[in-house]
Order: sequence, then C-alpha cells, then structure tokens
Amino acid sequence: MSQKDPIKIIRLILSLFILITNISCAANANSDFVVTTITQNVYSIVSPSKGLPTPENKGWNSNIHFVVTGKGVLLFDTGSSESIGNKIKKAIKTVTNQPVRWIINSHSHADHWLGNAAFNETAVEIIASNKAHITMKKYGEEDVELYSQVTKGTIGSTKLMFPTVLLNQEQKRKFGEIDVEFIFSNDGHSPGDLLMWLPKQKIIFGGDVLSSDWMPMITDYKNVPNLVSTLYSIANLSPTIVLTGHGKATTIESVMRDADLLSIVWKQVKSDFEKGKNSNETLEDIKAKLEPKYKFLYKDFSSEIERHVNLMYKLQQ
Ligand SMILES: [Zn+2]
Repeated sequence: MSQKDPIKIIRLILSLFILITNISCAANANSDFVVTTITQNVYSIVSPSKGLPTPENKGWNSNIHFVVTGKGVLLFDTGSSESIGNKIKKAIKTVTNQPVRWIINSHSHADHWLGNAAFNETAVEIIASNKAHITMKKYGEEDVELYSQVTKGTIGSTKLMFPTVLLNQEQKRKFGEIDVEFIFSNDGHSPGDLLMWLPKQKIIFGGDVLSSDWMPMITDYKNVPNLVSTLYSIANLSPTIVLTGHGKATTIESVMRDADLLSIVWKQVKSDFEKGKNSNETLEDIKAKLEPKYKFLYKDFSSEIERHVNLMYKLQQ
C-alpha cells in the first residue's frame, strides 16, 4: 500500500493516541537510552518523546521497563524497531550482565513490540495475550513499513519476532525469584492489553492502559467502561509505583484521577446522548465543570477532552 493510504495513517494515529497538538513534544527527543532505577532490581528506560514516530525521535516514543532477577532479565516492552531494541539491550548492560530471558509485550501497538527480535539470542519466552498476538500478525508487516516511512528510515531495520507464549486469561507465575501477576484490562486500551503486577514490590506496569502526564489513551474500541473498571481495580491493589507506556513513572493518584475523569465524562455523555443533546453542548458543559481542576492535572486536557467527548458520543451510537 502507498504511504499516503489514509486508513494506514489513521490507524497509526489511533494506535499511538496522540493528537496533532502533541507532535511538538516529539521534536526534542534525544537518542540517549538512559536507565533509571525505580527500586531494587526494577528499572525504566523512559523515552523523552511522546508523539508520533518522526525522523527527529528516530521512532523512539515509548517506555521500556525491566526487572533483574537471579535467573535473567524480565523485559516489559521492546520499543518500535529491532534497532531500538538493540539500543535497549545495550542500555540494560549498563546495570546487569544478566541476559534478557523473558519479554512481555503489553499490547499490539507497534511501538511496544517491534524491538523483540533484538533479544532473539537470549529470550526463551515472549509473552503476550492471544488477542494482541492476532493483531500483531495482522498488522506487523505493514507497521514496520509504515514506521520506516514516517521516520524516513531513521528507525533502522526490523525483523518481526512474534510472541511465543499466549495468554487467554490472567495468570500468576515466577520469573527467577520474582512473583508476577498478569492482569487483563478487558481491552481498555486495545485488544488484549496486558498489565504486569509485582505483588511484593507493589509495582504495576501499565503499558498504555495507565497514564501519567497525559490524558488516558482511549480508543474507538468500545471499551471505556472496561477501562474505568480496570483503573479502579488497579487502584484497589494500592500500588506504590505506577509505570506507564509513555511519560514518567507515577503513583496511585494518577490512576484514581484517570478513573474518576473517565467515569464522570462517560456518564455525562451517556445521559446527554439519551436526552438528545449534541456533543458540542456536552463538551461545553464538561469543560465548564472540569477544566478548572483537570487542566492542571494533565498536560493536554484542553485539547484532548474534545476528542474524548466526541469519541464517547460515537460509542453511544
Ligand atoms: Zn498503545
């Protein structure tokens, strides 16, 4: 398909959930893959860029997190290309000599799994949900092509490497000495999102289901109520640290903030829709009520709330 194919472009935009207004955030990306210590044995490599893959950010726009166990490294997400995966691998070596033995792909959006092949030599399992795997199979090839086009090739090369262990339900298991629980969002962000919970350390790895600096990343996948209930159940776990797919590490307050906001907006849209109001009326009303508080809680409330209201209206139909 041609690079101007509008469906591809729309899907890319949806898959990243970034508004045009946020693209400027991507411009100041640098290529340093800096490892940040979260707590003992848990680390993050946070992308300075949150936006579309561009030539400036070389396609690196998502976070990677990892846990060093006595038997190897457990890696949560692998970036947007094999080349980026190789940079991640190098960065991990600055804190441990352990190889990456297990990979978790939080979901099927390309910026979270196209780096898998960089760990081909040492990874014994690549774990994702069955639903995410289906989407990866369907769109993987064209995502590689598309990311290469939009970054003008600066993203480097990618071989597709698909998950090898597919989950159909939530699961508890051990990686080395670390207890891990996998939690489903019931498609809160995309089909088959997987979250990872370390019950002893009380750390949640949220992928794109959890947000820090920016508004919750909702999609037209008809699952806002599922996202809200997932957020409340994550908050009930009382995490001490919340790691996200984009943006800095955060706390339970962000999870509650997102759940409350989505719940208020969803309820009002539903009720206004039933009363026959249009989305503009609802938007004005919601802005008047919520903007004074929420514009200080998100970097993009004023631009994103319109997309949220319009999307939620669409989901009522
Ligand atoms: Zn995503």
